Amino acid sequence: MSDIPQERRLVTAVPGPRSVELQARRTAAVAAGVGSTLPVFTARAGGGIIEDVDGNRLIDFGSGIAVTSVGASAEAVVRRASAQLADFTHSCFMVTPYEGYVEVCERLAELTPGDHAKKSALFNSGAEAVENAVKIARAYTGRTAVVVFDHGYHGRTNLTMALTAKNMPYKQGFGPFAPEVYRVPVAYGYRWPTGAENAGAEASAQAIDQITKQIGAGNVAAVIIEPVLGEGGFIEPAKGFLPAIARFARENGIVFVADEIQSGFCRTGQWFACEDEGIVPDLITTAKGIAGGLPLSAVTGRAEIMDAAHSGGLGGTYGGNPVACAGALGAIETMRELDLNARARRIEEVMKGRLGEMRAKLPNGGVIGDIRGRGAMIAIELVKAGTKDPDAEAAASLAKACHAEGLLVLTCGTYGNVLRFLPPLVIGEDLLNEGLDILEQAFGTL
Ligand SMILES: *Cc1c(COP(=O)(O)O)cnc(C)c1O
Repeated sequence: MSDIPQERRLVTAVPGPRSVELQARRTAAVAAGVGSTLPVFTARAGGGIIEDVDGNRLIDFGSGIAVTSVGASAEAVVRRASAQLADFTHSCFMVTPYEGYVEVCERLAELTPGDHAKKSALFNSGAEAVENAVKIARAYTGRTAVVVFDHGYHGRTNLTMALTAKNMPYKQGFGPFAPEVYRVPVAYGYRWPTGAENAGAEASAQAIDQITKQIGAGNVAAVIIEPVLGEGGFIEPAKGFLPAIARFARENGIVFVADEIQSGFCRTGQWFACEDEGIVPDLITTAKGIAGGLPLSAVTGRAEIMDAAHSGGLGGTYGGNPVACAGALGAIETMRELDLNARARRIEEVMKGRLGEMRAKLPNGGVIGDIRGRGAMIAIELVKAGTKDPDAEAAASLAKACHAEGLLVLTCGTYGNVLRFLPPLVIGEDLLNEGLDILEQAFGTL
């Protein structure tokens, strides 16, 4: 890890004058469609700290959207990626291959659920992995339909926009979208009309009914689901939902794809979130946390499914770049050495404990409607006090108050009313608690 002191420090307003200056250049040169949560320009980052160009040190509860789980300058990632940079930056695996790519695929076969024969293919972004999972499932089944779920998020390319549920900001004005994509209900416990305890059974029955009646199970190549829904609001499908969908897929020759791009690689306190209910996906997509911040993604799955696409049918110029592969091997080494699954579970314990106390201090829970998530993927859903009406303004105001005090938090959710916490798994417990102190004070500003 780079030697950034693991201490919050504010020496200017947030953003400070250097950031404001850079923001003006950015506005002139960078397309408006690319947004930023907080216009604070990064100078260095590592552990649980982001240091900006004004010398402020922010506590990081975002990990660059669940990416820098091992920190943004993890020693093993920097060491291995630097060595690889000096050796060669690129040869294109489709032209002359290299060992790092193969080694990442070997690690993926070991770490993903199930002891069947597995193979992988590597790409650059999460969306690219999801697109390739669809290509592979279609090639294997000879079918075209793809089933996705309410509140699901799978990316911003044309096909993955179609797979993504939420219109603004992901889809508005960007259609037409790819065909043969169908959306069915998910077991969102907090908002399920007959209560969370019924959500798993009822939502899976509804989803399966819609698939059989509206699409025809025999036309479905793949069902794709996030075992913990990320952008949709850190929704853990109610117990029983995922096993029911996985069983239905198995009985009907449908490829079950777990999109673990956000939830994978120790984030939820296990290597993969689908392990929680003993799910063994046919295919699993990974990215984000896989390579310590370097761009890498993968599709991993049953060898016979992965081999269904003809030679030359999968790939891409940069897919599985050697520097990114070296970074992934460094990140996996760090996860194992520091037992980051245990760290994620400890983060859950601390966060849920503190968030529960915060809610208990507010009359009837106040704006905190729900506290949920697993490991270091924790969220609070904000509502108008005494109701379940989403309160997106409360989420925005809390985030703003936290940012001003040097705590970086992100929002998410179909209704924009979820505050999500994704600290690096290597964050110190003192910083974690200090971040939570800032959040607690922010409730006083509402
Ligand atoms: C972020 C994300 C994606 C898209 O990944 P990109 O690297 O942004 O293309 C897909 N699925 C899930 C679950 C994600 O969280």
